[in-house]
Amino acid sequence: MGRVLLAKPRGYCAGVDRAVQTVEKALELYGIPVYVRKQIVHNAHVVKTLEAKGAIFVEETEEVPHGATVVFSAHGVAPTVHEEATERKLRTIDATCPLVTKVHHEARRFAREDYDILLIGHEGHEEVVGTTGQAPDRIHLVDGPEDAAGVSVRDPKRVAYLSQTTLSVDETMETVEALRERFPHLTGPPNSDICYATQNRQVAVKQIARSVDLILVVGSPNSSNSVRLVEVALDHGAPAAHLVDNSEQVKDEWLDGVETVGVTSGASVPEELVTELMAWLAERGFNDVEEVTSTEEHLLFALPPELRRDMRAKE
Ligand code: SF4
Repeated sequence: MGRVLLAKPRGYCAGVDRAVQTVEKALELYGIPVYVRKQIVHNAHVVKTLEAKGAIFVEETEEVPHGATVVFSAHGVAPTVHEEATERKLRTIDATCPLVTKVHHEARRFAREDYDILLIGHEGHEEVVGTTGQAPDRIHLVDGPEDAAGVSVRDPKRVAYLSQTTLSVDETMETVEALRERFPHLTGPPNSDICYATQNRQVAVKQIARSVDLILVVGSPNSSNSVRLVEVALDHGAPAAHLVDNSEQVKDEWLDGVETVGVTSGASVPEELVTELMAWLAERGFNDVEEVTSTEEHLLFALPPELRRDMRAKE
């Protein structure tokens, strides 16, 4: 009989839970269709489920008809996106995670104080695009420690760093150290921008990595924090680790010679996908399940104020 070590915490974070509920409540309140700019969270199953309920996902605000309702995703948007929505007279509901909004505030504050801002993050990721939009003339992207050498700033004594919320904690520390070597006066946010959920899921996967033969991370390929979980697992001793959207993507040969499987899931992954994977593993003899808890999470975020206001008005 095979064993499964199930990492906890895993799956939905407070920001994803809030964003998904925002779309569901908006559909109930305003009726279909409700437009959503970009994937509300980076998970294929969540997007499909909301589409079935009447949400229409678009890439840009200009695809939303005049006067319609649009939800902005958990990853946040640049101020120019709000301006476009106002021009098109859209009803906007902003589901940006409050922990991303915190980074936006930091970016604007450092820009006001005339710092050059080094944003550690992955080029093209929606959150990076939204944060860069807060101070486009001041922000320079640094995509990992090797990028530190090439950064140029106006005044090396007035440099701050910020980061994407869903990075590897260890790699980001390396990048900050590399930047600090170049800019000894480097300043940063009062608390890490990498959010509690990203940090906790990485700690949880590290805890099981050395005790398993294989780790399966449930998550979509465009989910930054899910991809990081695979990397962190491999860096911390897991002999193999794979990212799968669902149990259908698990290859039987991955289980050859495996006695213990580790399972976790990214912050945008509904628990039902993990439950389904556990059933798939149980069918193959992996019945001895132990949940390994590194910390308990209790954080919840209130729904966006504009949505709560409309909900109250309807009561
Ligand atoms: Fe917010 Fe972190 Fe979840 Fe992103 S991963 S939505 S920053 S709590």
